Amino acid sequence: MQTLVGIAVSSGIGIGQAIIISDKSIEIEKRHIDQAEIEKEQGRYISAIEAISKNIDEHLDQFIKAKEEREIFEAHKMILADPEIQKGVFDLIARELHNLEYALKIYFDKTISFFKEMKNVFYAERAGDYQDIYERLINHLQNKSSLIIDEMNQDSIVLMRDCPPSMIAELIKKKVQGLVLVKGNKTSHAVILARGMSLPVVTGIQFNQKIKDGDDLILDAEQGIVFVNPDEKLLNKYHEQKAKENEEMANLKSISSLPTVTADGKVIQLMANIEMPEEMEIVNQNNADGIGLFRTEFLYMDRDSLPTENELFEFYKAVSEQAKEKPVIVRTIDVGGDKMAKWYPHLQEINPYLGCRGIRFSLTYPEIFKTQIRAILRAAEFGNLQIMFPLVSSVEEFRKAKDYVLECAAELQYKQEIRIGTMIEIPSAALIADQLAKESDFFSIGTNDLLQYTVAVDRNNETIAGLYNSYHPAFLKLIKMTAEAAKSNNIMIAVCGELAANESFIGLLLKFGVQELSVSTHSLLKTRRFISSINYQKLVDYPDILTNIGDSGKMKEAIDKMNTEIIEKKEKV
Ligand code: PEP
Ligand code: MG
Repeated sequence: MQTLVGIAVSSGIGIGQAIIISDKSIEIEKRHIDQAEIEKEQGRYISAIEAISKNIDEHLDQFIKAKEEREIFEAHKMILADPEIQKGVFDLIARELHNLEYALKIYFDKTISFFKEMKNVFYAERAGDYQDIYERLINHLQNKSSLIIDEMNQDSIVLMRDCPPSMIAELIKKKVQGLVLVKGNKTSHAVILARGMSLPVVTGIQFNQKIKDGDDLILDAEQGIVFVNPDEKLLNKYHEQKAKENEEMANLKSISSLPTVTADGKVIQLMANIEMPEEMEIVNQNNADGIGLFRTEFLYMDRDSLPTENELFEFYKAVSEQAKEKPVIVRTIDVGGDKMAKWYPHLQEINPYLGCRGIRFSLTYPEIFKTQIRAILRAAEFGNLQIMFPLVSSVEEFRKAKDYVLECAAELQYKQEIRIGTMIEIPSAALIADQLAKESDFFSIGTNDLLQYTVAVDRNNETIAGLYNSYHPAFLKLIKMTAEAAKSNNIMIAVCGELAANESFIGLLLKFGVQELSVSTHSLLKTRRFISSINYQKLVDYPDILTNIGDSGKMKEAIDKMNTEIIEKKEKV
């Protein structure tokens, strides 16, 4: 047995046999054809584009509901139907007497590098679309992809270097167990689509020479691990875990359309954290009350230049429209720290977590900030968008950032009211929460960073992960203090960090007066089910547990004890 550790980018378990889609599937034969073959080669092109378009239509009908995803595939169909491409390819066949595959290679290589060389991001993305179409055409003509796809079944785990987004729908159709990639991270397009469709994925696995076709694999997406040819004991353990997971999924589905209510009837706002419009489908399926945190770094990362206002606008509008009237809290750009962008001018900071990140970045580069704000305001016309600033450390910062919003609103003659909130994720902000609350429309506590900055422990440092302890009384006191400040100033208070989905702390957060919990899409139903087991009145009546506890161990005992008393054994939903 071999254990390969990669990057955990989704959840779930896959158990099955390896099917490797190697890069070699794109080897092109160059052949000189006779005059008599011209028509045949051109005819093969027409049949190929018809077959692929039909295939896309089928996928669109069966699997793709979200508008953004549809747009990707519609764009691919437009490329296939482009008469310019047909003319270019036909010329290469008729004049140069190239076989179709080679004519396609020449035509697409040229087009793709043309788009790649244009520094504009829009065109760089077009290059990806053309590459995807080219590969589809070649795979279709060589019958390779369909052969490999035909081989796939519900016992397959697919391994590839990189995965085009269009392939995800094919894998779902084949009900494969999982996907292992060399390239990609949490924010890769294909990974986001896969996560939304509950396909377990692990990236960062160099599988060449380590895995061969037909090997037995276990893919633990939660941990980012692939076991190759596991022993029987491990296999049995994972089979049991998977069976439990399946049962759990089926149970959770039954509460997907319900509201989020405690056992004694107190309604809690359960919101989702998202990064892309594609995630809205699952948000709506699971009846979330809105988006409590729309992280907006995605469009700024993994690229050489900044997104345009229009690009941002379309992205936000897609979320805004799909959320219908439900609130969407758009967090302004939070680059820096662990979220580095290639175009970011301060790559050389010695301590980026304490550097120019979050709202500091936006205030340092107002043009970048204003471009984003304008895009948000324009998209706000299509739904209920609200704005939130990350990493605010002082009242002055909040005021300056708000002034930019007002300036943009005036420039755009934007007349509607726009709610502007503060993310509380630095101790200094929590300590002046009472003053910030007087100027903010709402608070949302970013517990991931608040804990990091309270205990001075890098949230991504494995070596000292034990010190990143949510039971630390200082951290919990800051949350309580923030919630109290919100309450006394009559503003809404939410938690959008990971703590909001942590069953050990949900009761405590509600006891503090938190009104809204915003969790990742895959935690929505679990969180709803857990909330349904809480007796809210008992929670409110329970004595304060923060006073007089100084150590994390004792704090854990006290919270565990409270939980046993406020949680009803039988969940209501
Ligand atoms: C947080 O810090 O808790 C948070 C939600 O923001 P992010 O994880 O994006 O830094
Ligand atoms: Mg944060």
